[in-house]
Amino acid sequence: MNVRLELICVKEDGTEERREVLTFAKEQLAMETLGLTVAEGKALLSAVQTCVVEAQTTTYLVERRACAACGKPHRSKEPRRSTVRTVFGPVTAPNPRWHRCACQESGPLTVRPTAQRLIGHTSPDGEHQRPGGAADFAAI
Ligand SMILES: [Zn+2]
Repeated sequence: MNVRLELICVKEDGTEERREVLTFAKEQLAMETLGLTVAEGKALLSAVQTCVVEAQTTTYLVERRACAACGKPHRSKEPRRSTVRTVFGPVTAPNPRWHRCACQESGPLTVRPTAQRLIGHTSPDGEHQRPGGAADFAAI
C-alpha cells in the first residue's frame, strides 16, 4: 500500500491550495511494519514544516508585493532563497530582494521583505543582518 499525504492550506478568502507532503509505501501487517517508523515520522514533520514555511512566506510576499503608497508592485532585483532554522530542522524559504518603489524618495534602495520580517533588521542597502545570533536566516 502506498500512503500519500497532502497539506491543504485554506486562505483567508476560502480558496484552498494543496501541496503534496510525503509519499511512502507500507508493507504487510506485522508489528515491525505497523504504523509509522521513527524515520517516517521525522520525514513527515520535516515535510510538513517545509510546506507550512513555504505557504506562509509565499502568502506574506504576495501580500507585500504592492507598494503601500501607490499600489504598484515592487520590482524584483534578486529571487533568492535562504535557510531558516526551525524547531523541526532547517528549511529554505523565499527571500527575494525588491527595489524600492519609484514613488519613494527615501529609505533603502532595496529590501528583503522576508528577512526583514523574520529578523527585523536590514542594512542601509536592504541586506539582512544577523542580530547577535538571535535568529538564523543564512543565505544558501
Ligand atoms: Zn509606490
